[in-house]
Amino acid sequence: MTDVILAKAKQGRELSRGELVALLSITDAAELQALYDCAYFLKEQYVGKIAYFRGIIECSNLCIKDCYYCGIRKSNTNVERFQMDEDEIFKEAVWAYEAEYGSCVIQSGERRDEEYIAMIERVVGRIKEATKGRLGITLSLGEQTEETYRRWRAVGAHRYLLRIETTNPELYAKIHPKDHSLEERKECLASLRRTGYQVGTGVMMGLPGQTMEDLANDILFLKEIDIDMVGMGPYIPHSGTPMGKEIPPYTDEQKRVALQLGLKMIAVTRIVLKDINIAAATALQALEYTGREQGLRCGANVIMPNVTETEYRPNYTLYDNKPCTDENSSMCRGCLSGRIEGIGETVGFNEWGDSPHFHKRTKTVSD
Ligand code: SAH
Ligand code: SF4
Repeated sequence: MTDVILAKAKQGRELSRGELVALLSITDAAELQALYDCAYFLKEQYVGKIAYFRGIIECSNLCIKDCYYCGIRKSNTNVERFQMDEDEIFKEAVWAYEAEYGSCVIQSGERRDEEYIAMIERVVGRIKEATKGRLGITLSLGEQTEETYRRWRAVGAHRYLLRIETTNPELYAKIHPKDHSLEERKECLASLRRTGYQVGTGVMMGLPGQTMEDLANDILFLKEIDIDMVGMGPYIPHSGTPMGKEIPPYTDEQKRVALQLGLKMIAVTRIVLKDINIAAATALQALEYTGREQGLRCGANVIMPNVTETEYRPNYTLYDNKPCTDENSSMCRGCLSGRIEGIGETVGFNEWGDSPHFHKRTKTVSD
């Protein structure tokens, strides 16, 4: 049954919502392999067998939000809060540049105060200048006003990641407090597009109550808003959160199922969106050591190695069992490059690695 759908997908033909649900529902080992092979075939055709690195700097765990799933939500009093200063962020970005990563991502909990906005503005400007614009700069700093997005864009940030988390309004309302709004998130994604960023979004999969129909709708949403990059990953409970308290730590079987769902989502997203960048989330590795490489084999083409100072890493725990929190950045570089070459891909060192989709989209706009 699914072989007919995959044959259609290989020819680049559009799939219906029902066909996406059928692919996401596969559990048979042979059918799964066929799904992953199809996604890999399309990946090779549209974006090649190059994995791009984005060195991620987790620069602060202060957050004004209270998402029920996240370990650094503001109400979690068991977190030692930290905030890197401008020089520390700068130093880590330069480290990523010298390690030939091509791009960095600056991520943190959400803060909207002027002191923070201005600090980010200064440090982005400094990184841009010191690397002569050669280091790509992605931000992942939550919901902000269009004016803030514009200020950061003006000094050199050119990509932004803001996950929609889930497009099902009822599910969104269940996993967030009342004052966190799905509509505002969508508005932010629209602002980011208007201000000229390459926009990345994505969801968490495996949320309690989430269905395959929800996930198929999520993929169709990514298509509808014509996204350039996708960053999505499995939901993993954090024991210090309202959602995590209700879910005991995953058993090995639950980890296997969660990883499989993560890989299926990557594969189906590649099949539907073809020429975009898709990140193999670090959360995949929390479920199995080779989770990120498996993500590349199923259609992802971006990996985000951690370049945060080792001392801060344990305090940026969004979910339990986050990997590599006791390693330093050089260890991550060596370890990851070796593992990527081990699956027959090359690392796109020193390249921004924009998605072909972004270039096509902007070319069409300026033609
Ligand atoms: N504050 C910013 C960026 C940091 S959070 C923001 O929210 O956009 C980055 C991502 O971590 C979130 O989008 C969410 O999808 C993910 N995340 C948070 N808690 C998680 C959990 N328990 N399991 C898996 N992913 C989680
Ligand atoms: Fe804050 Fe982001 Fe965690 Fe929500 S997901 S609590 S916004 S860091």
